[in-house]
Amino acid sequence: MISAHWKDGRSFIPQKILCVAKNYLEHAKEMGDGVPEEPVFFLKPNSALVPAGAAVPKPAWTNDLQHEVELAVRIGHQCSRVHVDKALAMVDGYAVGLDFTARDVQRALKAAGLPWEKAKAYDGSCALSPFVSAAEVNPHFPLELILDVNGQRRQQGTTQQMIHDIAKLVAHASTYFTLHPGDVLLTGTPAGVCTLVPGDLVYAAVAGVADLQLTIQEA
Ligand code: ZN
Repeated sequence: MISAHWKDGRSFIPQKILCVAKNYLEHAKEMGDGVPEEPVFFLKPNSALVPAGAAVPKPAWTNDLQHEVELAVRIGHQCSRVHVDKALAMVDGYAVGLDFTARDVQRALKAAGLPWEKAKAYDGSCALSPFVSAAEVNPHFPLELILDVNGQRRQQGTTQQMIHDIAKLVAHASTYFTLHPGDVLLTGTPAGVCTLVPGDLVYAAVAGVADLQLTIQEA
């Protein structure tokens, strides 16, 4: 089993990694197929995690591996049907996360009306920086997300641009899924998603909170 980590080195295994589709307007526009009124969730298994220090695989079966930089929140308390006013209190950690996507495969599956798992939940499709305690982060303050490829800025945005904020996402998710300590929620990506190739060096950060450096490798 692949672990996620706290900044102080403690490890944990997320039971599930919940992701939100199209939670930033400019990204929804670049995807070109409308903005959902309610959050749309999909899941990655914990086998999708990139082990700490490992390279990110570019699978042979995709020609369009893309990066999505996202704020990752860690659930600290078991909860179900939590009220939006209590939802932030369920979060005990923050990190930067990468939702790697085989965009060509996703587009083909979407066009056929099929689920996206092959494109979004495959081995190596999720990387997480070490988590910082929620006590050290003010989620009401706009958090800046950045992603550079080979030193060039590709994505930049702030959590203020989210269509559904963190509390709403946690509350809405808990309407459908019991959330457990260690579960991770990826909260959506700002505009600028782009293709990665083997050899690329990726730097992702939630400014002032967490960062992560990764290389892409042919798999
Ligand atoms: Zn995403």
